Amino acid sequence: MSGARPFLPYGRQSIDADDLAAVADALRGDYLTTGPTVGKFEAAFAEAVGARHAVASNSGTAALHLACMALDLKPGEAVVVPTVTFLATANAARFCGADVVFADVDPDSGLLTAQTLEAAIARAGKYRLRAVLPVHVNGFVADMPAIHEVADRHGLDVIEDACHALGSLHPAGNGVTARAGDCALSRMACFSLHPVKTMTTGEGGVTTTNDDNLAARMRLLRNHGMTRDPTEFKIAAQALDADGSVNPWYYEMQALGPNYRITDFACALGLSQLNKLGRFIARRRQIAALYDRLLPPLAPALRPVQADRTQNPALHLYAVLIDYARIGKTRAQVMAELKALGIGTQVHYLPVHRQPYYRGLYGSLDLPGADRYYDRVLSIPLYPDMTDADVERVVAALKQVIG
Ligand SMILES: *Cc1c(COP(=O)(O)O)cnc(C)c1O
Repeated sequence: MSGARPFLPYGRQSIDADDLAAVADALRGDYLTTGPTVGKFEAAFAEAVGARHAVASNSGTAALHLACMALDLKPGEAVVVPTVTFLATANAARFCGADVVFADVDPDSGLLTAQTLEAAIARAGKYRLRAVLPVHVNGFVADMPAIHEVADRHGLDVIEDACHALGSLHPAGNGVTARAGDCALSRMACFSLHPVKTMTTGEGGVTTTNDDNLAARMRLLRNHGMTRDPTEFKIAAQALDADGSVNPWYYEMQALGPNYRITDFACALGLSQLNKLGRFIARRRQIAALYDRLLPPLAPALRPVQADRTQNPALHLYAVLIDYARIGKTRAQVMAELKALGIGTQVHYLPVHRQPYYRGLYGSLDLPGADRYYDRVLSIPLYPDMTDADVERVVAALKQVIG
């Protein structure tokens, strides 16, 4: 029995005294909701990923929805979404009334490819396709040069779901190394700051872009579509007093937008976490390298998910592929036995097109690469506060359970 040894979840936040102090400081300040820390956090985040703008919101889901709204996605239009992802990637388009054409993925990496994108485009049928949302599953970045090329040829915008990939480096063509979220090969990229992600603000999200107009549009949309900036007012007759001065109470709603504002104290946590992002990423890489070294003896029953070896990913999840038939146990049994040994695991993800909501909309689809990935995948613990001994404990438990 594992005795007093702590339970190791598949992922968790890393919060230190400096984070507590930063949040306490913000709470003692004048602003709880939008204040000066939001802009500071946005500037620091943009710098960290190498994009011109970062627009912060109150979840990764909001970040994705703002990106779709900024493109003015509408009913009758559609986007391509790889089916191995979290629900929110597809839902963002549905919130705009647009439809989703689910794409298949590579069975071994779970990633959208140029081929599976082309196949999805060919199935678009009656919809006017507007965009594709590649998802950087586990932190491995999809083949952006190839996806960008296909998207360009079909007149589609690229919105990256980079929620797993903060800190990942990948080849961007012509020998250039890009940072996930620098938008070198996309219009926008979306991040989540949920506690299991690479850094956290509690709940939170960021959309990055190099396009000034898209950034301004997202800033308007996240705050009810309203502005208090006199230079933007459209109806002078109600904005101005008889003497031509701006009425002090006045604001204008110029588009329909939700309240997706992030709080100042969440951004204080975000700034404090950004200070440590380099350390978080380095530790994630060390742990992944240790797993890479310790897990090969478990093949062929278990193999780590490996994508393009020329990348330098900052993994959000450490996922393995298990041949359950070969070991004579179901995935549920394996998860229960690991849990009894104090090891948390999770499945990322049931392909989204198989959810009842989407089955109701589009019927059952044949996406065999996604099924093959889903049938085998399991995420094992990965977070910066794990010790090497924790990693060895996970590997020992896997050996015991998988045999
Ligand atoms: C976490 C996540 C989201 C949603 O982020 P929230 O902050 O939970 O709203 C979207 N897409 C992917 C791939 C994610 O992992």
